[in-house]
Amino acid sequence: MTSSPLVSRANMDILDELQLIAAQNLERLEVNKYYEVIRELGKGTYGKVDLVIHKIRGTKMALKFLKKKTTKLKSFLREYSISLYLSPCPFIINMFGIAFETDEYYVFAQEYAVAGDLFDIIPPQVGLPETVAKRCVHQVAIALDYLHCKKLVHRDIKPENILIFDRECRKVKLSDFGMTRRAGSPVKRVSGTIPYTAPELCDVSRHEGFCVDYSTDVWAFGVLLFCMLTGNFPWEKALPSDSFYQEFIRWQRRRTNTVPSQWRRFTEQALRMFRRLLSVEQDRRCSVKEVFGYFSHSWMLDAENDNNNGNTVAGGGGERVSGGGGGGGGGGGGGGGVRGEVEGTISSSSSGEEDEELLVERMKQQTLSPRSPVSPLSPMLPMAVKRGSGGSGAKGGMMEPGGGHHFVSVSTNSSVSSTNSYDRMPRENGSPGGRMLVPTPIEICV
Ligand code: AMP
Repeated sequence: MTSSPLVSRANMDILDELQLIAAQNLERLEVNKYYEVIRELGKGTYGKVDLVIHKIRGTKMALKFLKKKTTKLKSFLREYSISLYLSPCPFIINMFGIAFETDEYYVFAQEYAVAGDLFDIIPPQVGLPETVAKRCVHQVAIALDYLHCKKLVHRDIKPENILIFDRECRKVKLSDFGMTRRAGSPVKRVSGTIPYTAPELCDVSRHEGFCVDYSTDVWAFGVLLFCMLTGNFPWEKALPSDSFYQEFIRWQRRRTNTVPSQWRRFTEQALRMFRRLLSVEQDRRCSVKEVFGYFSHSWMLDAENDNNNGNTVAGGGGERVSGGGGGGGGGGGGGGGVRGEVEGTISSSSSGEEDEELLVERMKQQTLSPRSPVSPLSPMLPMAVKRGSGGSGAKGGMMEPGGGHHFVSVSTNSSVSSTNSYDRMPRENGSPGGRMLVPTPIEICV
């Protein structure tokens, strides 16, 4: 019996099938014919994200434009299909099912997040009030667990990829699945020296490739929590050469009982949670689900941190979000969600050098903002930030607690040191409360 196209398609993995359908239906369009461009929402070397209005339906949308010059069709189709596949989760950005190409770009449409991204609302050196942070963390945890249940790994968890719909984080959604791969996919080692990168990926002695694993998302999620609650990074990079990291590791490995200075603001329960999320040994790191067990506890010792007066928040803040504690709320479907389980079929499109080229491109677009300390608890901590604007300064500002915007950009050359670290800016150099933007240095091992 000859196999019909239908039969061979039935054997296909859902993501491959979505990609095939998207490829078959990819139309060439003139953007201005169908959409009125309102403004740019984000920009990077990859392309840009524009806020548009559909001329016929009047719907506001965010169009993501990926440059054909630097994006392979395969990569575009993968990002689009994964986003589409995950969008039923209430805490993952919604899609309109629209994908097309222009002469210069591959384009897809997403719902518009009116309040921007989480990066924009974290007050530097201060952090978000605990209630707000918890609300946000709860929703992101559900989204991430959903993704893991689908046997996918995000690989780029950071504030810029959490879109928000209001400044109290009552509704936030995970976005940007450009680096997302199936768990277990073999990829070449790329050591991006950003603070969210897990130690096993920072380890330069690992020249060989590695398999994509949920635990790297969990690590990044732990760092994200710290950033949200403090407005600082816990370290520049998870390497022994970083003194903040080393101090943390000594405590984490119980070589000392002294809690590192910048962690002393947390309650015992919160420290226990961080110990689990930021376990140095990959196989001892908890699953993202485990954080649901910590919401009934206070996380910050200093109640003043919570200027919203709500330290005893259960289930993620003043407004409960549905589908949480059971792990994977928002919908398991198709998943099982067993950590460490690897999907049987690994598509050839989910590995290889092109992936890493794309990954490198994306990481190059990241910027960090080193800041000198103001908090007595966190000496010399760099300030937590990056912008997806490729150092272009297109949208490098943030909303200060007081409401003012400060836009400060620093040229690449003057800021990145030759040791792949970044120079720390004295506070006086920046406008108070502003952010220094420098590109994230990146080290690539092949
Ligand atoms: P991305 O490359 O998808 O991470 O997008 C870059 C930046 O554009 C994000 O960090 C957001 O600030 C902004 N952005 C992306 N998608 C949206 C959206 N759907 N709604 C509002 N802003 C967005």
